[in-house]
Amino acid sequence: MKGTGSKGASRCLALEGEVGASVSCSIYGNRPSPCRSFEASFESGIENPGCAEARVAKGLLPLTPADWE
Ligand code: SF4
Repeated sequence: MKGTGSKGASRCLALEGEVGASVSCSIYGNRPSPCRSFEASFESGIENPGCAEARVAKGLLPLTPADWE
């Protein structure tokens, strides 16, 4: 979330990699509480509409239960 929305930034500055290919959080162990509480859709069997919204905004398909099989 750091830097998100700041001038010229289109994503969190802690996000490393290429969206849609392979990404990781460079501060994963110290990520803020909003990140800790945000679950990917169906990660624990429950859909998160915010997850789908964020993925679609970046041109990705929403996650499905099959993505966790
Ligand atoms: S999990 Fe990491 S990369 Fe993702 S928004 Fe939070 S700080 Fe940024």
